[in-house]
Amino acid sequence: MNHKARDREKRENIALERIIRLMEFADKEARGGNLEQAGRLVELARKINTKTKTRIPKELKNRYCKHCYCYLMPGKTSKTRINSRQKRVEVTCLKCSRQMYYSTKKRGC
Ligand SMILES: [Zn+2]
Repeated sequence: MNHKARDREKRENIALERIIRLMEFADKEARGGNLEQAGRLVELARKINTKTKTRIPKELKNRYCKHCYCYLMPGKTSKTRINSRQKRVEVTCLKCSRQMYYSTKKRGC
C-alpha cells in the first residue's frame, strides 16, 4: 500500500468516527427535545460525509431524513409503519412529509 492510500484510509476512519459521534450527539439532543440542534448536528455529519466521501453505516442512515436531513425520531419527527405485505418499513418524515422505505426482508424474525 502506498502512502497516499494509507493517508486516505486514515482520513476516512477519522471522518467516520466524527460522523458517529455527531449522530450520537444528535440523538441526545433529540431525546432532550432539542430537535433543531439535532438537525444541525445531522447537517454537520452530512457535510463531513460529502467532503470525505465516507460511507455512512446503514444504521445511521436510517436516523435522518433522506430528503431534508432532519433527525428522525419516531412519534416526534417521523412516523414508522410496517407494511407486512410489501415486507418493508415505511418511514414518513413529519417535517417534509416525504417517505422512505426500508426493506425488512433480510431481518428474519
Ligand atoms: Zn424530511
